[in-house]
Amino acid sequence: SFLKLFLKVVACFFVCLCYRPFYLQLPSMPCINYFLQKPCSPFDIEKSSSVQKQAQPKLRINMDGDKCGTPVQLQLKEKRKKGYCECCLQKYEDLETHLLSEKHRNFAQSNQYQVVDDIVSQLVFDFVEYGRDTPQKKRIRYSV
Ligand SMILES: [Zn+2]
Repeated sequence: SFLKLFLKVVACFFVCLCYRPFYLQLPSMPCINYFLQKPCSPFDIEKSSSVQKQAQPKLRINMDGDKCGTPVQLQLKEKRKKGYCECCLQKYEDLETHLLSEKHRNFAQSNQYQVVDDIVSQLVFDFVEYGRDTPQKKRIRYSV
């Protein structure tokens, strides 16, 4: 009925008052670019600008080269160091330092993982289990 709808709108309005609005202002809004080479995202801005500047064959080298390769990976690695630990409910600046902290080590050695163990105990172990490595049976390590 109209009254129900009206109450819903009013309720929505009050819910909205509880939260801070969240904005995104960009110099140019996302635009689908169909001219990019196929695996690339059509929203990629850097590559779209290089498409306009350069001819097709050169562009390919550019995209496989350091322009979109290494910097992004480095950024990701940097980001991975910072984070939030869901066990300790705590932010950390460096992952490895946090993993060595007393609070986290206490959690890691606690019985909080019983829920995981309960699920694992339902699985069937069907791999071949070797004894401790003897020098002859050294596993070959493949580098990726
Ligand atoms: Zn932690």
